[in-house]
Amino acid sequence: MTPAKLEIREDFESLIERHDTFLFDCDGVIWSGSTVIDGVPAALDMLRRRGKRLIFVSNNSSTSRKDYVAKFSKLGIQASVEEIFSSAYATAVYLREVVGFSADKKVYVIGGSGIHRELEEVGIKTLGSDDVAPISVATLGDILPNPDIGAVVFGIDYELSYRKLACAHTHLTHDPDCLFIATNDDRTLPGGKYQYPGCGSLLSSLVHSTQRTPLVMGKPNQPMLDCVMQKFHLDPARTCMVGDRLDTDIRFGIKGGLSTLCVLTGVANEADVLSSSEPKATYYMSSFGDLSKLDQ
Ligand code: PLP
Ligand code: CA
Repeated sequence: MTPAKLEIREDFESLIERHDTFLFDCDGVIWSGSTVIDGVPAALDMLRRRGKRLIFVSNNSSTSRKDYVAKFSKLGIQASVEEIFSSAYATAVYLREVVGFSADKKVYVIGGSGIHRELEEVGIKTLGSDDVAPISVATLGDILPNPDIGAVVFGIDYELSYRKLACAHTHLTHDPDCLFIATNDDRTLPGGKYQYPGCGSLLSSLVHSTQRTPLVMGKPNQPMLDCVMQKFHLDPARTCMVGDRLDTDIRFGIKGGLSTLCVLTGVANEADVLSSSEPKATYYMSSFGDLSKLDQ
């Protein structure tokens, strides 16, 4: 089916009437980098006033849920920690609740403070953030397997270095029981006007060196979907996934049996939405902020 374009008041009213819960991707839907998208705060307020449940589902692992709340508030949007589901948090929930990660083990993290914070919040000890010393071929042999490490978690790391890759590689190749988890495998990430290498592009070097396949948590993968469905007890028939990316957000919604809405304020444009080779959204619209017109 061709995605239906939502343009007029009646389209917006019918979208709202058909759903009780809206899952929102963040970057490209709610904000673009550090700028809120016009009309979105008012549109979200209107949905709350109408009793809708709002959940924010982001692949960005660099920020903890607490920091996300601060970002939302700075942009004039009310959101609680419980309403936010990031790939870093999903990783923590997965290790704690699905794997039952041993309290005696630690996680070697390649990634930012968002991952360390979420793991530590569920009682999992982490290593890796201070692996910053320079390295050369003469000192490579100092990197040794560590029997305390029970998992390697890989997320976006703006200070990614040879040392960190070598440490993760060593843990993963010396212990076949060491879990290998990636927060997400986005090929690119948005940086204002252009796209830059995303977590998945950095991850591929470690996949190649270790010849191991990580479990990938983030959208559109099943682990994130399972965690979200289980935590919020979603009724797929009454839930809409709103995103700007067809390969992650819209595919995620389709996988969960949800209806999907692609907005054109981020990565996908109208030609992508209508292309026969891309996942098909149920609906699309210029901007989610357009829903704020219902208040006028
Ligand atoms: N990963 C990183 C590091 C990012 O900075 C972003 C967006 O800013 C994303 C992933 C994609 O996030 P989202 O799923 O909210 O679009
Ligand atoms: Ca996005």
